[in-house]
Amino acid sequence: MHELSIVMSILDIAEKESAKNKAVQIDEIELEIGELSGVDMPAFDFAWQQAVKATRLEAAVKTVNHIPGEGLCMNCEAVFPMHQLYKPCPVCGDHFITILKGKELRVKSLVIN
Ligand SMILES: [Zn+2]
Repeated sequence: MHELSIVMSILDIAEKESAKNKAVQIDEIELEIGELSGVDMPAFDFAWQQAVKATRLEAAVKTVNHIPGEGLCMNCEAVFPMHQLYKPCPVCGDHFITILKGKELRVKSLVIN
């Protein structure tokens, strides 16, 4: 499952950070997940609940910041909200789009103890 491997890599980052700081427990974790990152949130949450058992993150409060997608058309330079990948520019119909926002998938902050 795609989401489980994402969760495992987040746990890995969190474990390494907390070990570096000699933390025994992580109280809070804040994540940034973009609209265009391809993460299925129900699957992500399910995988999360399974994966955090017996880790420093078991009792952590998880906050997810959802980053809306935003694209820039390379043809007409329009900036527009993007809810799906591979959508043409809504202004000129061009397919040459640069994604400005929405691909984020990262740990923004950890509160450790
Ligand atoms: Zn355009």
